[in-house]
Amino acid sequence: MLTQINGLHHVTSLASGAQSNNDFFTKTLGLRRVKKTVNFDAPEVYHLYYGDEMGTPGSVMTYFPFPGAKRGRPGAGEVSVTTFAVPKGSLPFWADRLATFDVKNIAPHTRFGENRLHFDGPDGDGFALVETEDDRAPWEGQGISADHAIRGFHSADMRLRDAGASAELLFMGYEQADTEGDVTRFHMPGGNGADVIDIETLPGAAAAQQGAGSVHHLAFSVTDRAAQVEVRKALLDTGWQVTPVIDRDYFWAIYFRTPGGVLFEVATNEPGFDRDEDSAHLGQALKLPSQHEHLREKLEQRYLEPIRD
Ligand code: ZN
Repeated sequence: MLTQINGLHHVTSLASGAQSNNDFFTKTLGLRRVKKTVNFDAPEVYHLYYGDEMGTPGSVMTYFPFPGAKRGRPGAGEVSVTTFAVPKGSLPFWADRLATFDVKNIAPHTRFGENRLHFDGPDGDGFALVETEDDRAPWEGQGISADHAIRGFHSADMRLRDAGASAELLFMGYEQADTEGDVTRFHMPGGNGADVIDIETLPGAAAAQQGAGSVHHLAFSVTDRAAQVEVRKALLDTGWQVTPVIDRDYFWAIYFRTPGGVLFEVATNEPGFDRDEDSAHLGQALKLPSQHEHLREKLEQRYLEPIRD
Protein backbone atom coordinates (compact mmCIF):
# COMPACT_ATOMS: atom_id res chain seq x y z
CA MET A 1 0.00 0.00 0.00
CA LEU A 2 1.21 3.49 -0.86
CA THR A 3 1.84 6.12 1.81
CA GLN A 4 2.83 9.05 -0.43
CA ILE A 5 -0.59 10.29 -1.60
CA ASN A 6 -2.16 13.20 0.30
CA GLY A 7 -5.60 13.46 -1.34
CA LEU A 8 -6.68 15.28 -4.46
CA HIS A 9 -4.33 17.65 -6.30
CA HIS A 10 -6.62 18.92 -9.07
CA VAL A 11 -9.71 17.95 -11.06
CA THR A 12 -9.67 18.58 -14.81
CA SER A 13 -12.85 18.84 -16.88
CA LEU A 14 -14.08 19.79 -20.34
CA ALA A 15 -16.07 22.95 -21.12
CA SER A 16 -17.77 24.45 -24.16
CA GLY A 17 -16.56 28.03 -23.77
CA ALA A 18 -13.75 29.87 -22.01
CA GLN A 19 -15.69 33.02 -21.08
CA SER A 20 -18.68 31.26 -19.47
CA ASN A 21 -16.31 28.90 -17.70
CA ASN A 22 -14.18 31.74 -16.37
CA ASP A 23 -17.22 33.71 -15.21
CA PHE A 24 -18.71 30.75 -13.36
CA PHE A 25 -15.61 29.86 -11.36
CA THR A 26 -14.32 33.37 -10.64
CA LYS A 27 -17.55 35.41 -10.35
CA THR A 28 -20.19 32.91 -9.18
CA LEU A 29 -18.03 30.62 -7.01
CA GLY A 30 -15.41 33.26 -6.14
CA LEU A 31 -12.32 31.16 -6.88
CA ARG A 32 -9.13 32.78 -8.11
CA ARG A 33 -7.93 32.08 -11.63
CA VAL A 34 -4.38 31.00 -10.84
CA LYS A 35 -3.19 30.16 -14.35
CA LYS A 36 -4.16 30.97 -17.91
CA THR A 37 -2.25 28.64 -20.19
CA VAL A 38 -2.97 26.13 -22.95
CA ASN A 39 -3.46 22.39 -23.13
CA PHE A 40 0.18 21.34 -23.55
CA ASP A 41 -0.91 18.46 -25.83
CA ALA A 42 -3.31 20.63 -27.93
CA PRO A 43 -2.14 24.25 -27.59
CA GLU A 44 -5.02 25.74 -29.61
CA VAL A 45 -7.18 25.06 -26.52
CA TYR A 46 -6.90 26.96 -23.24
CA HIS A 47 -6.08 25.28 -19.96
CA LEU A 48 -7.64 27.41 -17.21
CA TYR A 49 -6.92 26.80 -13.51
CA TYR A 50 -9.05 28.07 -10.61
CA GLY A 51 -8.32 27.67 -6.90
CA ASP A 52 -7.33 29.42 -3.72
CA GLU A 53 -4.79 32.25 -3.56
CA MET A 54 -1.81 30.19 -4.69
CA GLY A 55 -3.60 27.27 -6.30
CA THR A 56 -2.77 25.01 -3.37
CA PRO A 57 -3.01 21.32 -4.32
CA GLY A 58 -6.45 20.11 -3.26
CA SER A 59 -8.11 23.38 -4.33
CA VAL A 60 -7.52 23.44 -8.08
CA MET A 61 -10.34 22.96 -10.62
CA THR A 62 -9.01 23.08 -14.17
CA TYR A 63 -10.68 23.17 -17.58
CA PHE A 64 -10.04 22.58 -21.25
CA PRO A 65 -12.66 24.78 -22.95
CA PHE A 66 -13.33 23.53 -26.49
CA PRO A 67 -15.45 26.23 -28.17
CA GLY A 68 -18.91 24.84 -28.96
CA ALA A 69 -18.16 21.35 -27.64
CA LYS A 70 -21.14 19.02 -27.34
CA ARG A 71 -22.22 18.11 -23.83
CA GLY A 72 -21.15 14.81 -22.36
CA ARG A 73 -23.68 12.15 -21.42
CA PRO A 74 -23.59 11.18 -17.75
CA GLY A 75 -23.15 7.48 -17.01
CA ALA A 76 -20.90 4.90 -15.44
CA GLY A 77 -17.11 5.08 -15.51
CA GLU A 78 -16.66 8.74 -14.67
CA VAL A 79 -16.40 11.33 -11.94
CA SER A 80 -20.00 12.41 -11.47
CA VAL A 81 -19.78 15.11 -8.80
CA THR A 82 -16.93 17.31 -7.61
CA THR A 83 -17.53 18.69 -4.11
CA PHE A 84 -16.05 21.82 -2.52
CA ALA A 85 -15.77 22.40 1.25
CA VAL A 86 -17.50 25.47 2.73
CA PRO A 87 -17.85 26.59 6.37
CA LYS A 88 -20.65 25.32 8.61
CA GLY A 89 -23.80 27.40 8.30
CA SER A 90 -22.90 28.82 4.89
CA LEU A 91 -25.22 26.78 2.66
CA PRO A 92 -28.19 29.21 2.92
CA PHE A 93 -25.87 31.97 1.63
CA TRP A 94 -24.81 29.73 -1.25
CA ALA A 95 -28.35 28.65 -2.13
CA ASP A 96 -29.30 32.35 -2.47
CA ARG A 97 -26.17 33.25 -4.35
CA LEU A 98 -26.37 30.39 -6.85
CA ALA A 99 -30.03 31.20 -7.51
CA THR A 100 -29.12 34.87 -8.11
CA PHE A 101 -26.58 33.74 -10.71
CA ASP A 102 -29.23 31.53 -12.35
CA VAL A 103 -27.35 28.31 -11.58
CA LYS A 104 -29.34 25.19 -12.51
CA ASN A 105 -30.47 22.19 -10.43
CA ILE A 106 -29.76 23.64 -6.98
CA ALA A 107 -30.74 20.90 -4.52
CA PRO A 108 -29.95 20.60 -0.80
CA HIS A 109 -29.46 17.10 0.57
CA THR A 110 -27.52 15.24 3.26
CA ARG A 111 -25.03 12.39 2.94
CA PHE A 112 -23.21 10.70 5.82
CA GLY A 113 -24.80 13.33 8.08
CA GLU A 114 -23.23 16.25 6.18
CA ASN A 115 -25.26 19.11 4.72
CA ARG A 116 -24.71 19.43 0.99
CA LEU A 117 -25.95 21.62 -1.83
CA HIS A 118 -25.86 20.10 -5.29
CA PHE A 119 -25.78 22.33 -8.39
CA ASP A 120 -24.82 22.24 -12.05
CA GLY A 121 -21.85 23.93 -13.67
CA PRO A 122 -22.22 25.87 -16.93
CA ASP A 123 -22.11 22.70 -19.07
CA GLY A 124 -24.23 20.57 -16.73
CA ASP A 125 -21.16 19.57 -14.70
CA GLY A 126 -22.08 17.96 -11.37
CA PHE A 127 -20.95 20.01 -8.37
CA ALA A 128 -21.77 20.17 -4.69
CA LEU A 129 -20.82 22.24 -1.67
CA VAL A 130 -20.54 20.50 1.70
CA GLU A 131 -20.41 22.13 5.12
CA THR A 132 -17.32 20.96 7.03
CA GLU A 133 -14.87 22.05 9.69
CA ASP A 134 -11.89 23.05 7.58
CA ASP A 135 -8.93 25.25 8.53
CA ARG A 136 -7.71 25.86 4.98
CA ALA A 137 -7.52 29.58 4.11
CA PRO A 138 -9.98 30.76 1.46
CA TRP A 139 -9.53 33.16 -1.43
CA GLU A 140 -11.87 36.07 -0.77
CA GLY A 141 -13.50 38.22 -3.39
CA GLN A 142 -16.65 38.87 -5.42
CA GLY A 143 -18.56 39.73 -2.23
CA ILE A 144 -17.93 36.31 -0.65
CA SER A 145 -16.51 36.70 2.86
CA ALA A 146 -14.34 34.18 4.71
CA ASP A 147 -17.48 33.00 6.57
CA HIS A 148 -18.74 31.54 3.31
CA ALA A 149 -15.85 31.14 0.89
CA ILE A 150 -14.80 27.81 -0.62
CA ARG A 151 -11.86 26.14 1.18
CA GLY A 152 -10.86 23.78 -1.60
CA PHE A 153 -12.12 20.37 -2.62
CA HIS A 154 -13.77 18.09 -0.10
CA SER A 155 -14.24 15.07 -2.35
CA ALA A 156 -15.03 13.65 -5.74
CA ASP A 157 -17.74 11.09 -6.54
CA MET A 158 -16.97 8.29 -8.96
CA ARG A 159 -19.97 6.59 -10.55
CA LEU A 160 -19.02 3.01 -11.38
CA ARG A 161 -20.68 -0.25 -12.40
CA ASP A 162 -18.99 -2.26 -9.66
CA ALA A 163 -17.23 -1.56 -6.41
CA GLY A 164 -14.16 -3.56 -7.45
CA ALA A 165 -12.61 -0.32 -8.57
CA SER A 166 -12.21 0.61 -4.93
CA ALA A 167 -9.12 -1.66 -4.98
CA GLU A 168 -6.94 1.07 -6.47
CA LEU A 169 -8.07 3.57 -3.83
CA LEU A 170 -7.14 1.12 -1.07
CA PHE A 171 -3.78 0.53 -2.78
CA MET A 172 -3.24 4.30 -2.91
CA GLY A 173 -3.70 4.53 0.87
CA TYR A 174 -7.40 5.37 1.21
CA GLU A 175 -9.46 3.60 3.88
CA GLN A 176 -13.07 2.51 3.50
CA ALA A 177 -14.98 4.73 5.91
CA ASP A 178 -18.72 4.28 5.56
CA THR A 179 -21.59 3.18 3.31
CA GLU A 180 -24.96 4.84 2.72
CA GLY A 181 -27.27 3.42 0.05
CA ASP A 182 -25.28 3.00 -3.20
CA VAL A 183 -22.43 5.18 -1.94
CA THR A 184 -19.24 3.95 -0.27
CA ARG A 185 -16.95 6.55 1.26
CA PHE A 186 -13.15 6.33 1.21
CA HIS A 187 -10.97 8.63 3.30
CA MET A 188 -7.23 9.34 3.28
CA PRO A 189 -6.03 9.44 6.92
CA GLY A 190 -3.85 12.50 7.54
CA GLY A 191 -4.79 13.87 4.13
CA ASN A 192 -4.80 17.42 2.75
CA GLY A 193 -8.51 18.21 3.35
CA ALA A 194 -9.40 17.20 -0.21
CA ASP A 195 -9.12 13.64 0.99
CA VAL A 196 -12.49 11.93 0.48
CA ILE A 197 -13.64 9.83 -2.50
CA ASP A 198 -17.23 8.57 -2.68
CA ILE A 199 -17.97 5.66 -5.01
CA GLU A 200 -21.53 5.32 -6.23
CA THR A 201 -22.14 1.79 -7.50
CA LEU A 202 -24.75 1.52 -10.27
CA PRO A 203 -24.47 -1.95 -11.87
CA GLY A 204 -26.92 -1.32 -14.71
CA ALA A 205 -25.79 2.17 -15.72
CA ALA A 206 -24.86 2.89 -19.35
CA ALA A 207 -21.30 4.06 -19.99
CA ALA A 208 -20.70 7.79 -19.75
CA GLN A 209 -19.84 9.67 -22.94
CA GLN A 210 -17.25 12.35 -22.45
CA GLY A 211 -18.02 15.90 -23.59
CA ALA A 212 -18.47 19.41 -22.22
CA GLY A 213 -19.27 19.18 -18.51
CA SER A 214 -17.46 15.86 -18.08
CA VAL A 215 -14.48 15.37 -15.81
CA HIS A 216 -11.45 14.41 -17.90
CA HIS A 217 -9.28 13.14 -15.05
CA LEU A 218 -8.74 13.14 -11.31
CA ALA A 219 -5.28 14.11 -10.09
CA PHE A 220 -3.92 12.99 -6.72
CA SER A 221 -1.25 14.89 -4.82
CA VAL A 222 2.24 13.79 -3.81
CA THR A 223 4.70 16.17 -2.17
CA ASP A 224 7.59 15.95 -4.59
CA ARG A 225 9.24 14.16 -7.48
CA ALA A 226 10.94 11.59 -5.25
CA ALA A 227 7.55 10.51 -3.86
CA GLN A 228 6.15 10.40 -7.39
CA VAL A 229 8.93 8.07 -8.55
CA GLU A 230 8.14 5.74 -5.64
CA VAL A 231 4.43 5.77 -6.53
CA ARG A 232 5.16 5.11 -10.20
CA LYS A 233 7.42 2.16 -9.39
CA ALA A 234 4.86 0.67 -6.99
CA LEU A 235 2.10 1.00 -9.60
CA LEU A 236 4.27 -0.59 -12.30
CA ASP A 237 5.31 -3.40 -9.93
CA THR A 238 1.61 -4.10 -9.29
CA GLY A 239 0.91 -4.40 -13.01
CA TRP A 240 -0.53 -0.98 -13.83
CA GLN A 241 0.18 0.69 -17.15
CA VAL A 242 1.58 4.07 -16.13
CA THR A 243 2.90 6.87 -18.35
CA PRO A 244 6.43 8.22 -17.98
CA VAL A 245 6.79 11.34 -15.81
CA ILE A 246 5.57 14.36 -17.83
CA ASP A 247 6.61 17.96 -17.11
CA ARG A 248 3.48 20.13 -16.84
CA ASP A 249 5.51 23.24 -15.86
CA TYR A 250 3.54 23.75 -12.59
CA PHE A 251 3.78 20.10 -11.50
CA TRP A 252 5.06 16.77 -12.78
CA ALA A 253 2.44 14.23 -13.80
CA ILE A 254 1.97 10.50 -14.34
CA TYR A 255 -1.30 9.01 -15.60
CA PHE A 256 -3.00 5.63 -15.47
CA ARG A 257 -6.50 4.46 -16.44
CA THR A 258 -8.40 2.62 -13.70
CA PRO A 259 -10.51 -0.49 -14.48
CA GLY A 260 -13.71 1.42 -13.68
CA GLY A 261 -12.90 3.79 -16.55
CA VAL A 262 -11.70 6.90 -14.72
CA LEU A 263 -8.32 8.39 -15.70
CA PHE A 264 -6.12 9.00 -12.66
CA GLU A 265 -3.10 11.27 -12.48
CA VAL A 266 -0.54 11.59 -9.71
CA ALA A 267 0.84 15.16 -9.63
CA THR A 268 3.58 16.75 -7.54
CA ASN A 269 2.96 19.72 -5.25
CA GLU A 270 6.19 21.23 -6.60
CA PRO A 271 7.01 23.63 -8.22
CA GLY A 272 3.59 25.37 -8.07
CA PHE A 273 1.82 28.11 -10.00
CA ASP A 274 4.17 30.96 -9.02
CA ARG A 275 7.12 29.47 -10.87
CA ASP A 276 6.59 31.78 -13.89
CA GLU A 277 4.63 34.79 -12.54
CA ASP A 278 4.51 36.54 -9.20
CA SER A 279 1.80 35.64 -6.73
CA ALA A 280 0.07 39.05 -6.97
CA HIS A 281 -0.60 38.52 -10.69
CA LEU A 282 -1.27 34.80 -10.92
CA GLY A 283 -3.53 33.82 -13.78
CA GLN A 284 -3.64 37.19 -15.52
CA ALA A 285 -1.24 36.83 -18.46
CA LEU A 286 -1.31 34.02 -21.03
CA LYS A 287 1.56 31.74 -20.03
CA LEU A 288 2.86 29.29 -22.63
CA PRO A 289 5.24 26.40 -22.03
CA SER A 290 8.58 26.93 -23.76
CA GLN A 291 7.78 24.29 -26.43
CA HIS A 292 4.76 26.35 -27.56
CA GLU A 293 6.07 29.91 -27.04
CA HIS A 294 6.78 30.25 -30.79
CA LEU A 295 3.02 29.77 -31.43
CA ARG A 296 1.96 32.70 -29.22
CA GLU A 297 0.92 35.13 -31.95
CA LYS A 298 -1.01 32.52 -33.93
CA LEU A 299 -2.75 31.14 -30.82
CA GLU A 300 -3.80 34.59 -29.59
CA GLN A 301 -5.02 35.73 -32.99
CA ARG A 302 -6.75 32.59 -34.27
CA TYR A 303 -7.61 30.18 -31.49
CA LEU A 304 -7.81 31.56 -27.98
CA GLU A 305 -10.81 33.86 -27.51
CA PRO A 306 -9.91 36.83 -25.29
CA ILE A 307 -11.31 36.37 -21.76
CA ARG A 308 -12.91 39.46 -20.12
CA ASP A 309 -12.32 39.45 -16.37
ZN1 ZN B 1 -4.13 16.93 -14.63
